[in-house]
Amino acid sequence: MHCIFVKTTPISPQSTILSSPIEYLHGVTTFKGDLLKKELEIFTFRDLLELYPFRHVDKTKLDTIAGLSPVNEYAQVAGKLTHLELIGEGKGKRLTAKLQDDTGEMELVWFRGISWIQKALSVGQQYLVFGRLGFFLGKPQIVHPEIEHFTAQKAGGKYYLEPVYPSTEKLKTKGLNGRAIGKLTYALLQLLSEKDLPENLPESIIKKYKFISHFNACGQIHFPATDKHYNHAVRRLKFEELFFAQLRLGLIKSARHRHSKGLIFDKVGELFNSFYKQYLPFDLTNAQKKVLREIRTDAGSGRQMNRLLQGDVGSGKTIVALMMMLIAADNGFQSVIMAPTEILAQQHFNSISALLKEMPVCVKLLTGSSKGKQRAEILKCCEDGSLHILIGTHAVIEDQVVFKNLGFVVIDEQHKFGVAQRARLWKKNIIPPHILVMTATPIPRTLALTAYGDLDYSVIDELPPGRQPINTLHRSEMARPQVMDFVKEEIAKGRQAYIVYPLIEESSKVDYENLMKGYEEVKSFFPEPKYWISMVHGKQKAVQKETNMQRFVNADTQLMVSTTVIEVGVNVPNATVMVIESAEKFGLSQLHQLRGRVGRGAEKSFCILLTGPKISGDARERLKIMVATNDGFKIAEKDLEIRGPGDIGGTKQSGLLNFKLANIVQDRVILEAAREAAEAILATDPELGNDAHLPVKKYLQQQKAKTAWSKIS
Ligand code: ADP
Ligand code: MG
Repeated sequence: MHCIFVKTTPISPQSTILSSPIEYLHGVTTFKGDLLKKELEIFTFRDLLELYPFRHVDKTKLDTIAGLSPVNEYAQVAGKLTHLELIGEGKGKRLTAKLQDDTGEMELVWFRGISWIQKALSVGQQYLVFGRLGFFLGKPQIVHPEIEHFTAQKAGGKYYLEPVYPSTEKLKTKGLNGRAIGKLTYALLQLLSEKDLPENLPESIIKKYKFISHFNACGQIHFPATDKHYNHAVRRLKFEELFFAQLRLGLIKSARHRHSKGLIFDKVGELFNSFYKQYLPFDLTNAQKKVLREIRTDAGSGRQMNRLLQGDVGSGKTIVALMMMLIAADNGFQSVIMAPTEILAQQHFNSISALLKEMPVCVKLLTGSSKGKQRAEILKCCEDGSLHILIGTHAVIEDQVVFKNLGFVVIDEQHKFGVAQRARLWKKNIIPPHILVMTATPIPRTLALTAYGDLDYSVIDELPPGRQPINTLHRSEMARPQVMDFVKEEIAKGRQAYIVYPLIEESSKVDYENLMKGYEEVKSFFPEPKYWISMVHGKQKAVQKETNMQRFVNADTQLMVSTTVIEVGVNVPNATVMVIESAEKFGLSQLHQLRGRVGRGAEKSFCILLTGPKISGDARERLKIMVATNDGFKIAEKDLEIRGPGDIGGTKQSGLLNFKLANIVQDRVILEAAREAAEAILATDPELGNDAHLPVKKYLQQQKAKTAWSKIS
C-alpha cells in the first residue's frame, strides 16, 4: 500500500490557544462541553470559532413603537413596563405586559416560563425588548421577546449585528440556544489577538482581491458592524476555504507525481500497430487521438497514472481504452477492464472479442457467474500470464485473482470507485498498475477539478462523425397511443425501441408491479407474433437478463422494456426510439444517460418523455432542458444549479465538496479565482519554500495537525 504524504518533513503538533479544549472557555461547564461535543462536534476553541452564524439580527438601532409597521420583521424597543397581567386558564393561560415609550404602547406575551418571567419583571422599570414583530387587532406585539434591563449605554443599540447560530433541540433545552452560543463566541473572540489568527494568504493575493485580514474576517463573520462588513468577511473566508482545498489537492497530485513509481510502456509494438492498420473499423476522432496521446505520455513517464477520462455517452471511450490495453500487451503487461454490471461486462467482452477476433490476443470474461472449472481456467491464465485482457465486474479485483504482470486497469462508468478500491488494485503488482477511470456522467469542469483534483483529467469532447442529434419530445401520457403508433412506424422501418420505467429505490415491489403493468400494456400495443419484446429488470437472474438482452442485441426482439438497468453503456445502434415513462421521476443526468442509448447509429433517433398530468416546477424545468439540448455538459451544469452539488458523480462520499461556507455552485466565481491562485503558486513554488508563501505553508501545517489530511492513500 502506498501512502502519499503532502510533506515529508514531520510536523510538531502546534498547540495554540485555538487548540484548547472547549471546557477551558469561561462559561463552558463540563456538562455543556460534553453537549457541545456531542451535538455540534465542537471540541476546541477553533471548532467554536468555525461554527458560523446562519444569519444576523439587527439590534443596532432602537425602533419607536409608533414607527412599527408590518414590514418590520423584528423590532427592538426601549420603554417602561406599565402593566403585567396573567390571563386565561389551562392551555390558554398567558402572561401579558404593556411596554410604553414616548411614542406609544405595545404588548408583550408569554405562554411558557410564565411564573419565572413574572417574578423577574417589575412594573415601572425600563426594559430593552427584542423579538419577532406581530400585530394583534392592529396593535404591535411581540411573543416571547428577549428582554433585559435598560440602561443609558444601551440607548444606541448594539454596535454589531447579533449572530444567530445553528443549535439543536437538545442544546436548546439545556440552555445552549443560538444566542447562548453567540455569547460563548463573543467571549472567545475577546481572548484572541492577531497573533492567534495570523495572516494565511500571500500579500499579493490579498492586494489583488482587496481582502480584509484573516483576523478581521474571523471576527466580523460573527459580529459584523454592518451587512457590508459581513459580506467582506464571508468573501474572504470562502476564498480561503476553496483556495486551501485546491492547494492540498495540487500538493497531493504533485507529490504523487514525484514519488510514485510507475510501470513504463515505452514501446508501441506489433499488436497496437496491426490493430490500428488492419482492424480498427473507423478513423479515430481528433479528441480520441488527443486522449490516447495523453494516456501514452503518462504511461511512458515512469510515474503511475491515475486519470479520469470523461466523454459524453457514445463519444467512444472504449476504443481508446482498448488501444491502450494493446500497448500494455506490447510491453508485456496484462490489462483489466471493470464494468459496473454483468450486462456491461458481457457487452464489452463481446465487442472487444469481435474487434480482436483475428489477433493473437487472449481476452476473457470473469463475473460473479463464472463458476467452477471455467473460473479456475480463467484464474490460471491470469496467473501464468497467458491472458492479455480480463474483462469483468467487481469479481476481477477479488484477492483470488492473481496476475503475472498487471499493468493497466480500466474502470468503466464507476465514479464511485473510491480510493480504497483503487488501493486494492495497487496491490496487484509490485509497482502499481496505471489506472484509467472512464465516466460518461458529464461533470462540469469546476466540479471535476474540485472533486477529482488529485486525478489527471482528460475529456473526449467530440462525437464520432455522422451522429445525428437525438430529437427529444415531451408528451403527456394521454398521448401514449399516438406515441406507440410512432414506435410502430419506426419498427416497420426495421428499427428497435426501448421503453423505460422508473426505479424508485424505496419500494422495489412497487417498481416491479409498475414494470409488469407497463409490460402488459406494451404487449397490448405490440402483440405477438408480429412483435417480440425483451424485458430486463433488477430482480432477474443474471443469466436471464443476459439472454433477454442478447435477444434484443441480436434484433430477435424489437422492443426492450426495462427499468433503468440499461442506463449505462449498453450499445444497440439499431435502436432509434427511447420512450421514458414517468419521465418526471428521473433526474437530469439520468435522463441524459438513458437518452444516450439511442442515436448511436447513423439513423435519426428519438427520445420521448412521457409524463403524468401533474408535474412539479423542477421537473418541468428538467424536461424543458432535455428537449432543448443534447449537450451533456450543459445538462450537467443545469443539474448542478437545480440540485446543488449534493451527490453528483458520487462525490458526496469523498467529502471533498463539503465546505463550511463555500458552495461550489453559487460561489463559482470565487472557486475559479481560488483555483487559479492555487495553481499559480504551485507552478512556481511547488514546495512552498518561497518566503512569500510562508503564511500559506504554516496554515497548511496547522490544518494538517488538526485533520487526518496528512495521509492520503
Ligand atoms: P462510450 O464513450 O459511451 O463508452 P463507446 O465506446 O461505447 O462510447 O462507443 C460508442 C459507439 O461508437 C461504439 O459503437 C463504437 O464502436 C463507436 N465509435 C467509437 N469511436 C468511433 C469513431 N471514431 N468513429 C465511429 N464510430 C466510433
Ligand atoms: Mg461506455
